[in-house]
Amino acid sequence: PAGEDRLLFLSQGGSFKLPTPPQMSNHGNYIVSLGNVCRWLGEQAEALGVEIYPGFAAAEVLYHEDGTVKGVATGDLGIGKDGQPGHNFQPGMELHARQTIFAEGCRGSLTKELFGKFDLRDGVDPQTYGIGIKELWEIDPAKHQPGLIVHTVGWPLASDTYGGSFLYHLENNLVAVGFVVGLDYKNPWLSPYEEFQRYKTHPSIRGFFEGGRRISYGARALSEGGWQSVPRLHFPGGVLVGDTAGFLNVPKIKGTHMAMKSGLVAAEAVFEHLGREGAGPEAVDYGAKIKASWLWDELHQVRNIRPAFKWGLWGGLAYGAIDTYVFKGKAPWTMHHHDDHSQLGDKASHPKIDYPKPDGVLTFDRLSSVFLSATNHEENQQCHLRLKDESVPIGINYARFGAPETRYCPAGVYEILGEDEGKPRLQINGQNCLHCKTCDIKDPTQNIHWTVPEGGGGPNYPNM
Ligand code: SF4
Repeated sequence: PAGEDRLLFLSQGGSFKLPTPPQMSNHGNYIVSLGNVCRWLGEQAEALGVEIYPGFAAAEVLYHEDGTVKGVATGDLGIGKDGQPGHNFQPGMELHARQTIFAEGCRGSLTKELFGKFDLRDGVDPQTYGIGIKELWEIDPAKHQPGLIVHTVGWPLASDTYGGSFLYHLENNLVAVGFVVGLDYKNPWLSPYEEFQRYKTHPSIRGFFEGGRRISYGARALSEGGWQSVPRLHFPGGVLVGDTAGFLNVPKIKGTHMAMKSGLVAAEAVFEHLGREGAGPEAVDYGAKIKASWLWDELHQVRNIRPAFKWGLWGGLAYGAIDTYVFKGKAPWTMHHHDDHSQLGDKASHPKIDYPKPDGVLTFDRLSSVFLSATNHEENQQCHLRLKDESVPIGINYARFGAPETRYCPAGVYEILGEDEGKPRLQINGQNCLHCKTCDIKDPTQNIHWTVPEGGGGPNYPNM
């Protein structure tokens, strides 16, 4: 069970307690491993007769001749690096349905295609994202306080960068600790990974981890745009649920409850739709049902809090307090978002950040972190990170932004080689990819396209 909620402001060497806003109160909640909850939910679904195909990601949307969605196809297996089928080739499997429910999580790659195909984002704000990086630690039992929850804002981030940390004491001396950085950050020299590592060395934080052992690592983008960024939720042949639709309450830092609720509402809407005589291909009631649910009210109430951080940390906190306590979420205006990738500034107009070297005790390099994520991809396959234009990484990203992909990727997938010889080139170590989707979001010219790798490739998070 969740216990004490603590919100701290960190300066470089000190800290002080801030009042915990009502959205961040976790009283009555439970601290769980979402990975384990999903495994448990999977068993419940299977017991009800649902077939689950772990290891077969949906890689392609299938359409009928009239353009309505027919279903999805899983990826082909055994396509070699050269793009040709090998001896172990197995074509993907087609799954057809009258209604397909897309639940891909934040920045779903098929959802991205559906947005374009059906103009689902017309008239709404761009989605804005954060990257969350997380570790699981087994700490000294003497320091473990089951149920303790600590959030921080401030150091090591500059005050114009949105973000902060979370730290949850679970059972069995386990602590889940993580850091979120808003992907609308401007300084191309910033590295969310290094910010997280630095944060663990703060005098108010490091004590939890000294004498402990890091046991797991992971990263994932999250949707932060909220109410004003929710797209049209239905289209001919399917609907969107969960974080692929952008259902996350930012001040609460939680989307799981909304993912569940949207799944329930979608199930109801689709079920009723399929039973209705003469119903067309689009479950049009789903959007109205979402708007009539508590999910929509909850998102509406907090819609101005994330965009207010355009005024920096103190401006954002001050506005958040006024919005929550004075306006009670009912201010007669709605603030707007920009695309994250367009916010990145030139390398010359921002200061370089000098990150300390990892000490191997509290702070670590990226490759040893990736090792703990148990990430695995079939070696002989085409890289699933596709570049639309091969000249952009050096011609634009390197020249103008100082190769930001080498810093925002939490897995060290992107490396610039050949700098010493004056011939820089980008190397993509796709086998290390944690599927966080940050490159697909933050690449300044949107030149990187994340696609589904073969089979069950990717991180394998136990207890995360
Ligand atoms: S390559 Fe992209 S999706 Fe993969 S870990 Fe790096 S930033 Fe995330």
